[in-house]
Amino acid sequence: MYTEEEIKKAAKDIVGAEKIVALTGAGISTESGIPDFRGTDGLWTKYDPDDFTYSKFLQDPAKYWKMSLELGELLLSLEPKPNLAHLALARLEELGKLRCVITQNVDGLHQVAGNTEVIEFHGNLRRVVCIACGERFPHDLAMEKASNGELPPRCDKCKGILKPDAVLFEEPIPRYALDRSLEEARNCDLMIVVGTSAVVYPAAELPRIAKERDGYHASFFGLYQPRRVMDYKKGAKVIEINAEPTPLTGIVSDYLIEGKAGEILPKILKEVERLLGF
Ligand code: NAD
Repeated sequence: MYTEEEIKKAAKDIVGAEKIVALTGAGISTESGIPDFRGTDGLWTKYDPDDFTYSKFLQDPAKYWKMSLELGELLLSLEPKPNLAHLALARLEELGKLRCVITQNVDGLHQVAGNTEVIEFHGNLRRVVCIACGERFPHDLAMEKASNGELPPRCDKCKGILKPDAVLFEEPIPRYALDRSLEEARNCDLMIVVGTSAVVYPAAELPRIAKERDGYHASFFGLYQPRRVMDYKKGAKVIEINAEPTPLTGIVSDYLIEGKAGEILPKILKEVERLLGF
């Protein structure tokens, strides 16, 4: 469990930093009622991750959409709202204390909370994309087609197959998101990592890139680079806020504030506002 000292320390680090970036994962949205993947009630206790690969999608898109109808109902029809953790990050941006949020989430809640600089590393489940012509449509449209028996749902323009605009396993990260995230990670002086198990790559590499600042990024693109001793001293500070320790803890992150993001981030925000004289 976290301590008040850790909250104060994080607030002081935020006030003292100039280029702050947040990296968020499914854990920031659990308090909005969206289950994460790997937590105790995570989606992988009910679904097989192997069914959500791009090759499985191409093999049998209709089967994918049947699963997606069920899962989509769970994720989207809940009409989840941003929670206090999302709102705290939006306020940090408003205060000039957050350059951007790099999110692995596909729920769009950071934008609803008010963050304007959001890099969607794994896409967004509220959109679908035609795998033939690249046209994007609202997810609801595809769900309507699928529930009316159009399996797989097809593009209104070219009749190509529609796929959720969220990155499936085996799919590459959207180029813009990859480039911009890498640039932000390399240039930040503080990275706040919230609610991620930090085991999904290449997103999990971003805190390491921030920590080292220079170099190491070749592995980000999956290129072979002889591993060398990393110099963590010259890089950004990395603060983790998570319900449990992760592979970053004690190695990449300077410290972990352990507990619920929806409790911890508002407390940090309150202290930041106090230090800034609000
Ligand atoms: P993950 O499920 O692997 O890990 C979530 C982490 O957050 C865990 O370590 C868990 O202990 C922690 N956590 C759970 N509730 C928390 C809370 N209230 N406060 C602080 N920490 C909390 O998720 P991940 O690391 O983001 O990686 C898996 C992939 O899951 C991502 O690619 C993402 O696209 C996808 N995903 C997204 C959503 C969403 O958009 N909301 C939901 C499920 C999965």
